[in-house]
Amino acid sequence: MNILCVGAIRMWRFTRNDAVTVWSRDIVKNRLSRYRSIIDLMLPARYFLARNIEVDYSNKEPLSKLWELHKVTRKKFNKQLKNVKEVAPTDHDTFPSKSFLDLKTLIANRILQQCYFCERRCNIDRANRIGYCQVTNTSYISSAFLHTGEEAPLVPSGTIFFSGCNFRCAHCQNHDISCNPKNGSIVSSTQVAAIANDLASQGAKNINYVGGDPTPHLHTILASLKHQQFNITQLWNSNMFLSEEALDLLIDIIDFWLPDLKYFSDRCAERISDVKNYTSIVTRNIKTAYTEGTKEMIIRVLVLPNHLQCCVLPLLDWISENTPEALVNIMAQYRPMWQVLRQPKIFEDITSRVSQEEMQQAYNHAERLGLEFRSVS
Ligand code: SF4
Repeated sequence: MNILCVGAIRMWRFTRNDAVTVWSRDIVKNRLSRYRSIIDLMLPARYFLARNIEVDYSNKEPLSKLWELHKVTRKKFNKQLKNVKEVAPTDHDTFPSKSFLDLKTLIANRILQQCYFCERRCNIDRANRIGYCQVTNTSYISSAFLHTGEEAPLVPSGTIFFSGCNFRCAHCQNHDISCNPKNGSIVSSTQVAAIANDLASQGAKNINYVGGDPTPHLHTILASLKHQQFNITQLWNSNMFLSEEALDLLIDIIDFWLPDLKYFSDRCAERISDVKNYTSIVTRNIKTAYTEGTKEMIIRVLVLPNHLQCCVLPLLDWISENTPEALVNIMAQYRPMWQVLRQPKIFEDITSRVSQEEMQQAYNHAERLGLEFRSVS
């Protein structure tokens, strides 16, 4: 028998003072109430419910049938999510042999055979070809540790860095990971679960999937949830360029979203990050996560120098109109890196750091809009 740990033996350490004091703010407590309840072991993480809902299907069903079943099962899942009042200790031995979570994993593996995990829609079988992200069907993790540098409510964060990315940001600070999908060690889904279990037992407040970007690794992450043991928040830390189908698989099981929103101009996004239709796709996904998933999110806005009018101010307007209760991290830490340093003429606009005046304008604008950014910026 393998009784799941709901968290009683988790050790709390490696924390920051503001990671404690941030919870004295009512606005943080209210807007992140479910996340807090999972930390306090009052409510189950979503994946705990998803793997306990039995579903009857054959592995040979066509994809369209699997999606139909997914839609029907979601209704049952949402009912349970609404009514659940406590974390019931469960037992791996009593899991249904086929669950809502297993169904999601099966669908993800089908998509992997003609990959459209993200809106690049490479449509290749990742068992024998690579798409834009260059990630095969094998996942690599470059590192995993208790991260104390994330936003205060998230610290310490059990962060897992997957290698490879579906963007090519010229200023990428993690380009050694993003552009090298074989950076680090090969991991199976059970190894990812073991890493997550270890981070949770060390006192992580959440399991934070990042990279590069976690999107190309969706199949591995979903499969790992069957083997994770702790009642712990599942956090998606991403550029949010997922396909609608990938988001549909994720939306039920992610407890906390940590999306980047850095451009509000497709021209800027294409030139700097080599991505088309950035604005419509990323805002579509953030809004879907907000309205159909949990509202609990911190949107990260990296302020690029000389991009206030085209990107930063209009995207703050968008947040205010579309996801008003999201917390917003307005980030000042931009530094010219990588391709920006190698090709300064092409990226002339972002060869400096952001100025204090630009940051102040961004803060003033967020303040005028009534956005909550002070607690996490
Ligand atoms: S994850 Fe995106 S970039 Fe990578 S192969 Fe799939 S569709 Fe292409």
